[in-house]
Amino acid sequence: MRTGLEDILGEQISGELNPDMDNGEYKRALVIAAHPDDADLGVGGTISKLSLNGWEIRYLIVTDGAKGTNDIKKTYDEIVNIRQKEQISSAACTGVTDVKFLGYPDGELYSSKDLRQILVKEIREFRPFTVYTHDPEPILINNQIVNHSDHRTTGFETINAIYPSIRDPKYFPEHFHKGILPHKVRELILWGTNNVNYEVDITSTIKDKLRALIAHESQFDFTSKKLSKIAKDWSKSNKKFTEAFRRIIISE
Ligand SMILES: [Zn+2]
Repeated sequence: MRTGLEDILGEQISGELNPDMDNGEYKRALVIAAHPDDADLGVGGTISKLSLNGWEIRYLIVTDGAKGTNDIKKTYDEIVNIRQKEQISSAACTGVTDVKFLGYPDGELYSSKDLRQILVKEIREFRPFTVYTHDPEPILINNQIVNHSDHRTTGFETINAIYPSIRDPKYFPEHFHKGILPHKVRELILWGTNNVNYEVDITSTIKDKLRALIAHESQFDFTSKKLSKIAKDWSKSNKKFTEAFRRIIISE
């Protein structure tokens, strides 16, 4: 029986990657993003396809986004509140109703045992087949975009959590004693990368992705001119839209 990604992505993906429901695997994806809006920009079209295909999706937003404004008069709490509401509305545009915020201070995310432990716990609890996150490697993406240090830290610590911490019970054994069991993530998909090896056709969900971005009112001032430029940038030809990723199959 064909299930999961193969159904929606066709021959781009091999049958062996379908979640094996009989073996306790589920159509479940965890999206770990540094800031409110990153998931929608990086993977919104793909996530909309997955949710339409019955996947259970959770967004885990690591920082509070509190520095995402030019309005110096706005208080810290006001900005955090606005950005959380925007992220919840935005996620709903791509079919995601499960959004968790870890609340680390925006712009101040560093590798730490505390961050590693929380990511390990979140992944062990949700038990995703696929994890989507930032590619931690590029400081500069395509020689065009400076990759925010929060993005790099989020991707780096997510990968460190996936291998081998979440798999092996001796890492953070307190989880095991609370009934939070080890887990294996099968597929890791990274956005914001210089090493694209996997593209998803999001033509059918491009409108959902644009709606999701528009929902971040405090971040983007979308005029119709800007929207058509974005659409043009994403469109390769003949109104075909794609999201580009670095994809790793985790066999161990
Ligand atoms: Zn960001």
